Amino acid sequence: MSPGPDVTTAGAGAALAERAQRVVPGGVNSGQRSIPGLPGLVVAGTGGARFRTADGAEFTDYHAAFGPPLLGHNDPDVARAAAEAGAALGHMGVGVTEGEIQLAEELCALVPSLEKVLLTSTGSEATFHALRVARAATGRRLVVKFQGCYHGWHDSVSLNVISAPDRVGGHDPISAGILPEVLDATLVLPFNDSAAVRRCFAEHGGDIAAVIVEPVPHNVGALLPHQEFLTTLREETARAGSVLVFDEVITGVRHGLGGWQQISGVTPDLTTLGKAIANGAPAGAIGGRADLMELFSTRPGAPAFFAGTYNGHPSVVAAALATLRKVREEPVHDHVFRLGERVRTGLRTVYARLGLPVAVTGYGSVFVTYFMPGYDGGAAGAERPTPRTYTDLLANDAGLFVGYRRRLLEHGIFELPLNLKRSHLSYAHTDADVDRLLEATEAAVTAALADGGARDLEHASTMGGATPAAAGRQEEAGR
Ligand code: PLP
Repeated sequence: MSPGPDVTTAGAGAALAERAQRVVPGGVNSGQRSIPGLPGLVVAGTGGARFRTADGAEFTDYHAAFGPPLLGHNDPDVARAAAEAGAALGHMGVGVTEGEIQLAEELCALVPSLEKVLLTSTGSEATFHALRVARAATGRRLVVKFQGCYHGWHDSVSLNVISAPDRVGGHDPISAGILPEVLDATLVLPFNDSAAVRRCFAEHGGDIAAVIVEPVPHNVGALLPHQEFLTTLREETARAGSVLVFDEVITGVRHGLGGWQQISGVTPDLTTLGKAIANGAPAGAIGGRADLMELFSTRPGAPAFFAGTYNGHPSVVAAALATLRKVREEPVHDHVFRLGERVRTGLRTVYARLGLPVAVTGYGSVFVTYFMPGYDGGAAGAERPTPRTYTDLLANDAGLFVGYRRRLLEHGIFELPLNLKRSHLSYAHTDADVDRLLEATEAAVTAALADGGARDLEHASTMGGATPAAAGRQEEAGR
């Protein structure tokens, strides 16, 4: 590993990035892959917990492609299974394969809400179909989502993810080009606010087709749910005849094979999955109550159209089966949960030593530090205080959040330098990686504090909104 890799000046990488800019808008194939401060990042190789740039710099990766590689990059068992399937079975796009049957059986056995399941290629397709079938089933128009949750790129849910403070409470689309009537059909509520949910159902219950929620909103780091909030969602939707959708694209498999619904004991009507179910191969799934799933047009004559050329692709299915097998048979969750706890505990010690008020939170393999006061300590034995709503996160110091992550690059560590992004551990990370992460974080935060965090704060926010930390730097942060 080259110490202090410099990814901003480059030879081969810069030339490749320039070629990309000429033919790919922005030079990357998805929003949020072009990272301010990291022009010309060209990835040339991955393996386990590491990746290498075209310039030969090596990083320990905690970004993890926004979450899929729970086992680590190109896990050999998953890669072998996908390659073997690819050599034996092309994609036919007609009928079904034994692998698809096996995968559906497995997912239905693992995830409490799944009586039947359909495969997609992405999480966005899964959430799109969840809302479409909910509208088909109920004949209703409205969808409820929560501020800070992300459910993919389609119109009904493309709003109110990372919103500027003055956009919270109203509609805050993350894209132009969405019909206003589509936005109007989505109601946005604060996460963890049961009273707001009850009020919304009292007013609109008869028109609500679906409530869609990330049971742990990880698209703004980690907001842990109040159990009572999830129970309220279940009760209110059941009473009103609305469809409750748990979007477990991040939490599914990563937090447990049965997802957050198994952890919380709250069973939704529909569940969407993606990311970690195939360790990085493009797989998504939508499943749930049989009576709802039977409305999809894979059953001839059923009303909710469902299709996708690549759904159930043999190599992707093989990757998913190999991933689930490994997570079942090896101590994957034990390992990542133990490392996750070490990271969170270690980070709290680091920040206490620096005298910096922070909220270090997360769950299992996911961790994030928000730079804001009010979350240290708590009474002995009491539940640790943790941010619970998007509004809580408006106090986060975005400059420091992004600034220390930029400085982490100099230590060969990659945590995505964008505001509110979570970090992930995998089965391939080691205790030595955690030791280095803790040491490097202390050095990076110290350096970031010394030169005032990220100076170009206009780049610190994402998803259309302006920087949430309008409140600016906390005075205490300099202590
Ligand atoms: N749902 C959640 C919770 C997500 O985090 C994402 C992606 O980050 C999606 C849905 C969309 O999945 P995809 O990017 O595979 O379309």
